[in-house]
Amino acid sequence: EHIANQIAAGEVVERPASVVKELVENAIDAGSTKVEVVIEEGGLQSIRVSDNGSGIEPDDCEAAFYRHATSKIQHGRDLFNITSLGFRGEALASIAAVSKVTLTTSSNDDGLGRKLIIEGGKLITNEDTAASRGTSFIVRELFYNTPARLKYMKTIQTELGHISDYIYRIALSHPNIGIILRHNENTLLQTIGNGDLLQVVAAIYGTQAAKAMIPIQAEDLDFSMQGFVSLPEWTRSNRNGISTIVNGRYIRSNGLNHALLRAYHTLLPINRYPLVILSLTMHPSIVDVNVHPAKLEVRFSKESELYPFVEQAIHAVLRQEVL
Ligand code: ADP
Ligand code: MG
Repeated sequence: EHIANQIAAGEVVERPASVVKELVENAIDAGSTKVEVVIEEGGLQSIRVSDNGSGIEPDDCEAAFYRHATSKIQHGRDLFNITSLGFRGEALASIAAVSKVTLTTSSNDDGLGRKLIIEGGKLITNEDTAASRGTSFIVRELFYNTPARLKYMKTIQTELGHISDYIYRIALSHPNIGIILRHNENTLLQTIGNGDLLQVVAAIYGTQAAKAMIPIQAEDLDFSMQGFVSLPEWTRSNRNGISTIVNGRYIRSNGLNHALLRAYHTLLPINRYPLVILSLTMHPSIVDVNVHPAKLEVRFSKESELYPFVEQAIHAVLRQEVL
């Protein structure tokens, strides 16, 4: 059972950012409105993810670490169940197999909860403890028992970059959740969680950037879109400021990127890019994830309608500003 978990762990847990991703997704799944991520040394020393969600019942804590343990029912074949296929109920088991995990959780408001310590897949502690409602995972010494994997870790700065990229995407796609990211005592991100997307933009890109954003809203038969696009005079040297969210999930689509860049075509200097955050809503059947789930790549069955819709809507608001 230990060996099986270590092999499976390699698939789910590639680097510290994978741990952050799985723990934060669990926190969101648990209905949390606040999620705090505190990491040390790029996550190689420790990763703590705390939430104010449902918590885990004391008697369910140990089982949550078994492989294929999941309390989540799989519905149909919608976009994002497919994305995580293969990892269902494997994340905690895989993480615990290659690190030292402390879980503290409470599923009610009586101040009592449960604490578990698991090291290298082995249960060390399972006891009652004082805890407020919600869940906190601390993952220490990732890959301490898999030296081959540890050798592949890049610098602290690189690992931190992967973590913050992921947290920014989560913050942009979940403006209703207050998200905090701290690294070695520095606060890298703090969002309020009141649904104000522009506040998230300001927290990530700065208040000057947020001031340069124009709201956009458009709708047709198949799609609705809202978000913010930057004024043409506000530019960046790379495309990292382009975020696309479909049905609440952060995605990547080259076609969509090209469409929105076409709207800026004559307005930007060569090799300069806008800041764009677009949130699209459409029927899930229009979205095809079979392209590259791990990389968030999607394709759209109605792309010949979607791309012009996006381009024209952005073009229209930009023209209004430029005139
Ligand atoms: P999955 O998310 O696919 O169900 P995981 O291994 O990630 O599998 O988690 C196993 C189970 O542990 C979840 O189904 C859930 O019941 C419980 N769990 C994990 N994290 C949390 C959390 N932050 N809050 C509440 N329950 C959690
Ligand atoms: Mg999970």
